[in-house]
Amino acid sequence: MELVDTHCHLDFNKFDNDRSEVILRAQAAGLTRILIPGVTIESSRKVVKLAESNPILFAAIGIQPNDALTWDEGSINDLRELFLSTSNSTSAGRKKIIALGEIGLDYYWEAAPHEHQQRILWAQMQLAAELELPIVLHLREKQDAEHGACAEDLLEMVTDWTNQLKSTNNPLSNHPGVLHSFSGNIDTAKKAIELGFFIGVTGPVTFTNSKERRDLIAAIPLEHLLLETDAPYLTPHPNRGQRNEPANVQLVANKVAEIHEESLAKIAEQTCANAIKLFYW
Ligand SMILES: [Zn+2]
Repeated sequence: MELVDTHCHLDFNKFDNDRSEVILRAQAAGLTRILIPGVTIESSRKVVKLAESNPILFAAIGIQPNDALTWDEGSINDLRELFLSTSNSTSAGRKKIIALGEIGLDYYWEAAPHEHQQRILWAQMQLAAELELPIVLHLREKQDAEHGACAEDLLEMVTDWTNQLKSTNNPLSNHPGVLHSFSGNIDTAKKAIELGFFIGVTGPVTFTNSKERRDLIAAIPLEHLLLETDAPYLTPHPNRGQRNEPANVQLVANKVAEIHEESLAKIAEQTCANAIKLFYW
């Protein structure tokens, strides 16, 4: 049985002491691919280096909304240069940078004014279209509400962007990206799915008190789901309280199997196929 972790911050210093053991445990748990997203230019460079060090690691590059203040006028060019200088550098001829992310809007921390967040999101979506890279989207509402201005603004931008993809026959238009670690409501999920997006499922679905999250996942057909850990954050039950790591994607897969009343093997197979469809990795 094969599993993938479509979102893990393996570059963070929380893994500095035992990164290679973490990767070995992931492989022992059946993981064949791990996507590591960047959050700043600097971390994007680090993530690419890390991805190049191991065949199961892949990189996404971008500036996360909570790091929006690190953005400057040269950032787009830095990201483009990083992509162009590394995209086909592996011996197997495999691309190591397979997505643009994580990018998005965060009205919870509000590290930068909404307008600034939107401006850098839009600029990065334009770069994604140019480089034909799917996007990994972060969305967090004020006070962690289930629905609010953040989802409204994000959906509006994503709708404009996907319309642009279609009108220019961009190959991304079939599957433009993923709403990572989705915590919104079913309406937002449905709208995103209509635009071709996948919905990322993380550890909170396993928490004993998150019935709403489970109901939401139950309402989404398997062919639109991706599994992820968002490690070192969001450790699934029963490992809550410990640092999260990619091997724990098994626990998320188990819960999705239970919710969808399917075998674990079926969940693994379908979610791997979904990830391949999106990332071509
Ligand atoms: Zn993340």
